[in-house]
Amino acid sequence: MVNYDTVLIRYGELTTKGKNRKDFIRQLDRNIRRTLKDYPDLKYERTYDRMYIRLNGEDQQEIRNRLERVFGISSFSFTEKVPSDIEEIAGTCLRIAQENPEKHTFKIIARRHDKNFPMNSDAINRRCASDILKNTGYKVDVHQPELAIQIEVHKDYTYITSEKIPGAGGYPTGINGKVLLLLSGGIDSPVAAYELMKRGLTVEAIHFAAPPYTSDNARQKVIDLASMISEYQGSMNVHVINFTNLQLKIYEKAGDAYAITLMRRMMFRIAERVAVMQNCLAIATGESIGQVASQTLESIACINSVISIPVIRPLICQDKNEIISIARKIGTYVTSILPYEDCCTIFDPKNPVTKPTIKKAQDYESRFEYEKMIEECIEEKEVVSASPELLKEDYL
Ligand code: ATP
Ligand code: MG
Repeated sequence: MVNYDTVLIRYGELTTKGKNRKDFIRQLDRNIRRTLKDYPDLKYERTYDRMYIRLNGEDQQEIRNRLERVFGISSFSFTEKVPSDIEEIAGTCLRIAQENPEKHTFKIIARRHDKNFPMNSDAINRRCASDILKNTGYKVDVHQPELAIQIEVHKDYTYITSEKIPGAGGYPTGINGKVLLLLSGGIDSPVAAYELMKRGLTVEAIHFAAPPYTSDNARQKVIDLASMISEYQGSMNVHVINFTNLQLKIYEKAGDAYAITLMRRMMFRIAERVAVMQNCLAIATGESIGQVASQTLESIACINSVISIPVIRPLICQDKNEIISIARKIGTYVTSILPYEDCCTIFDPKNPVTKPTIKKAQDYESRFEYEKMIEECIEEKEVVSASPELLKEDYL
């Protein structure tokens, strides 16, 4: 890798202007600094549509890995910052070509942001190209060059780069408010967390455990998943609810077919209350239409009817294959498929109803005092602060 001295960051979905734009950039700035906080020698600079980070010798590869996970960045490049002087510019282009000996064809793409620069972009292109042609075995290929050297001439400084790295896109996490995600140990809900954060939302999680039917391993798996995904926002609160008593009661009173429906109605009721306590304006799930009995439209309607807070379902129309490929990309898949029991699988009924009615669900619910049990669940909840550091500690 060529040794560059500056990272140039291009902002993402900046379609908004004015105050929103300011908020976007401020939040992105905060998130970038947080993700790079272990590198105290970096120096940051912001302009209207770019951010520059002076590397001061810090590890380029590691910084690249981290920046690739920051939402709100559309792309970034490692660049060489030189004074806006044609000798300096041409010399740097030549050095970049010489440091890429495995490549054979090139193209120079100069852009003048400062129109007072004495040469136009065409002249800059020709001047830099001729130095490379004279001093190396490179040939020009304007259509499909192996090495494309980009030059941005500004008033005092010029940025030169040969690689544009795609950013994670989306909005800076934290800019659009906070949601409470129902996080299981499965494949879908961690992917849902990723999608929510990508839309600029801060995610807190609520997890329903049923000890001793669900093990410590199952609980740890959820905390691990939360820790992995928290990398995108720094840390993540996980509210762990002991759901055992309520679940046993549901089984006693509702019978096989409606057990899952009732269980999910209780989950939603609890989640809504915790969301309000935590200033979350919505709850979210990893549901995907038709995937299992509780995710038919009839089930979703019956379950959703017990609450009034909005429910965000980022994966509702995704194929399982698409969800799995995102899970692999973000690194949660391998943990998600560890075979620990979930509170749903413990009481897995043989014939869950696929078209529950609200009336029947209410009928079963009228057979026991669930309100008090819900309150107990909330009173006894535990909060774990998941973070990438927590994950590292576990594996030491
Ligand atoms: P996942 O892979 O996310 O577990 P799934 O395909 O197994 O999803 P379900 O078990 O029906 O589907 O769960 C649907 C959604 O309900 C999950 O994506 C999650 O948001 C929520 N959920 C299920 N079980 C739990 C749990 N024990 N704690 C918290 N949320 C849960
Ligand atoms: Mg599940």
